[in-house]
Amino acid sequence: MIGLKQMPEGVVLETTRGPFQARAAVNCAGLHSDRITRMSGERSAARIVPFRGEYYQLKPDRYHLCRNLIYPVPDPNFPFLGVHFTRMIEGEWSAGRMPSWPLPARATASAT
Ligand SMILES: Cc1cc2nc3c(=O)[nH]c(=O)nc-3n(C[C@H](O)[C@H](O)[C@H](O)COP(=O)(O)OP(=O)(O)OC[C@H]3O[C@@H](n4cnc5c(N)ncnc54)[C@H](O)[C@@H]3O)c2cc1C
Repeated sequence: MIGLKQMPEGVVLETTRGPFQARAAVNCAGLHSDRITRMSGERSAARIVPFRGEYYQLKPDRYHLCRNLIYPVPDPNFPFLGVHFTRMIEGEWSAGRMPSWPLPARATASAT
């Protein structure tokens, strides 16, 4: 979807395959949902600020330290999922994600 027009009788979604008319549209575009909101001419109360994160892998001789998924206790003052340990399908363990800087261009642009 590349555009959205609100009409008295509904909405017209502009897509790469041409326009699509509907009575209503549900915005479920995930990390792009704020952009879709702006396309509609509405102001979004929320702003999405994506940032890059890096995952690390446990060394095989440390696999025994984790037997199940490990998640930090949520902290409402720091609303990120936090570093968690995830067992992957082949049995290896990932640890992450560690936010890394600098922020990508979109985050920088939307934060200013
Ligand atoms: C590495 C990783 C691990 C995760 N692990 C977990 C987990 O273990 N448990 C858990 O609960 N959650 C997990 N999550 C989070 C989870 O994936 C998201 O919360 C969830 O996918 C959000 O769903 P959504 O439908 O809101 O958005 P999305 O799944 O992002 O769907 C949005 C869709 O909109 C489409 N879209 C966007 N813009 C447009 C456009 N202009 N036109 C057309 N289509 C568009 C996108 O292509 C996408 O298909 C993880 C996320 C990541 C990145």
